[in-house]
Amino acid sequence: MCSTGGGPDVEWNERLKASKRYRCKDCEQTFESPSKRPMCPSCQSEDVEAV
Ligand SMILES: [Zn+2]
Repeated sequence: MCSTGGGPDVEWNERLKASKRYRCKDCEQTFESPSKRPMCPSCQSEDVEAV
């Protein structure tokens, strides 16, 4: 009875929604990025696809 409506959970869901998951086509690295033009953190390639 001490819940105030699940504040932290909502925040976490918002963050999940904001960042999508991508995979680099050059090095197979998977990563999350909120950017519309995600860049691979491993090889700096922009040749990535959403997964
Ligand atoms: Zn890469």
